[in-house]
Amino acid sequence: MFEIPSGSDFLTQIAQQSVSRRRFLRDMTGAGAGLLIGARRASALRREYGQKTIIVTFGGGARDQETFAPEGQRYIPRILMELIPRATFYTQVVNRGILGHYVANASLATGCYESFNNFQSIRPENPTIFEYFRQDRRRQASDVWVIAPSNGFTSIGESGHPAYGRGKGATVVLPKALLAGVSGGSERPFESLLRDSHEGPVGAGVYASTARQDEAIRDLLQISMSDFKAHAQSVSSPDELSLYIALHLMRSKAPSLIWITLHDIDIAHAGAFSLYTDAIQRTDRICAELVRAMDQEPEYKGQTNFFILPDFGRDADDDPSGNGFQHHRSGDALCRTTWLLAMGPGIRENTTVDRPVESIDLVPTVAKMLACDARFAQGRPLVEVL
Ligand SMILES: [Zn+2]
Repeated sequence: MFEIPSGSDFLTQIAQQSVSRRRFLRDMTGAGAGLLIGARRASALRREYGQKTIIVTFGGGARDQETFAPEGQRYIPRILMELIPRATFYTQVVNRGILGHYVANASLATGCYESFNNFQSIRPENPTIFEYFRQDRRRQASDVWVIAPSNGFTSIGESGHPAYGRGKGATVVLPKALLAGVSGGSERPFESLLRDSHEGPVGAGVYASTARQDEAIRDLLQISMSDFKAHAQSVSSPDELSLYIALHLMRSKAPSLIWITLHDIDIAHAGAFSLYTDAIQRTDRICAELVRAMDQEPEYKGQTNFFILPDFGRDADDDPSGNGFQHHRSGDALCRTTWLLAMGPGIRENTTVDRPVESIDLVPTVAKMLACDARFAQGRPLVEVL
């Protein structure tokens, strides 16, 4: 775990980041400071309406300059104008863990700072929210889904913990693997969609038609693969495939818990600023489309808690150990401080919370909402939304 030294410049930078986000939001939306007085009302409403949960990781990490700062607001119009007015927004979410995408997402899903090698596809050490929910609420695997961006995430659905583990976690679907399975051995038309990671050399890690998703997953999905392939021909981004799968799941199976890791923004590693900001705009739109589906689908309307948060940020322009927006290597304040947006029945709208929280606080919060016990999680529940 990354220890943030007290009284350091680092701490000051993190606090300034929070103040800036709050000011930007107030200027844009008029969102006010968070209060605890809604807590009782929120719990009562949740009991009344039942609950579903959708969690979106704002994939790959983006900085304030390209999101909440005045010069970045044009890239996230939907979040600012449509979602924030309906949400409680945490301005200071600190990630003290390893800044690699898989291990960071696994930490988000367990509520513990996982410490395994980011580049190995191994199961998290601590139980995931998926396992807590399934075991405590006696749910089937088909009620809990993870939609993940790459082969590296194959094992995120269930931990290596002896009390949980194999067969007790989420159903993990990799849209790229599904596409590779129906591309007929010719990956070239889908090369840009099938690239496994943005962090390796160009051309490396492209899914091959042999990397088939389990037949069992396809059977569980009950999706028309010809429709999926046709859709893939009309889009240019892997996250669009993830959106397609998510909408299909919401309409056809209405699972109680859906976790979607978006990842297009990580194209920033290629060093092209326009590709990075294009991806932020696309991610903004995808988040809004998921919320619109939540509002329209009878199984979700009025009874879903919806969370959006980045896995982490990216390097500051002036950090000598980074290269600006391109990477997330420096571990500086911009890399480690992000935000979290929560909306749902009983969650206060148009509200900001400025106290510092941590990314591992997500799981204990969701667990309380889903009436299960995240007994091994290290984070603390976000009381403002409970
Ligand atoms: Zn990355």
